[in-house]
Amino acid sequence: MIFIGTDPRTEERRHMVATQIAARGVRDTAVLAAMEAVPRHLFVPPALRTAAYEDHPLPIGLGQTISQPYIVAVMTELLGSRPGDRVLEIGAGSGYQAAVLASIVSLVISIERIPDVAGLARSNLATVGVSNVRVVLGDGTLGLPEDAPFDGVIVTAATPEIPPPLIEQLANGGVLVAPVGGRGVQELVRIKKTRDGIDRTGHGGVCFVPLIGEFGWSVE
Ligand code: SAH
Repeated sequence: MIFIGTDPRTEERRHMVATQIAARGVRDTAVLAAMEAVPRHLFVPPALRTAAYEDHPLPIGLGQTISQPYIVAVMTELLGSRPGDRVLEIGAGSGYQAAVLASIVSLVISIERIPDVAGLARSNLATVGVSNVRVVLGDGTLGLPEDAPFDGVIVTAATPEIPPPLIEQLANGGVLVAPVGGRGVQELVRIKKTRDGIDRTGHGGVCFVPLIGEFGWSVE
């Protein structure tokens, strides 16, 4: 990324990681390093840049949001990705979560359903010099069969149940993380696909905008 080392917000980011993320129990050093490296202020609207390192989600326009930094860190840690992995994200939004993942893995493919939001994600990622994220326009609840299987799948919008195609497109040993539940509050769910079946664990309450699509909600 272009801004590492020369970015005047480096100190703010270190503080964010120490007080909001490490202090709350995120231990994975690759995740902490990624959160320190990615310039979050370049993924929020210019008018909100001074709030970029605060402990909450922010609006990015078109009714969509960039998640709270702590939640991005927790979901990335739950995914447990390694350097050679290929990860599928559903809900590109600002592109921030994809950028955090892209600093750990080799390739991120992120599906976004709103054309203007997909354009925003692409332009934000280009601005910070991230070149290993592909933003694809479409209904992410269908996954991307032509690029499957994926080592990790991360859903960053609230879904009533995990879309079956996303489980199908997970590699053996792969991990999927998604906020599952109603339109107001959801539980963070982690699924690990093994030869013997599916391990499913819950990781606390979260609040995401809805996943709209064939296997998500039908209306905004
Ligand atoms: N990961 C983002 C935040 C995502 S907000 C970030 O780091 O900023 C949720 C996003 O999911 C929104 O942009 C919304 O348009 C998108 N979305 C909702 N339903 C979708 C679907 N079926 N396929 C792809 N994207 C979807």
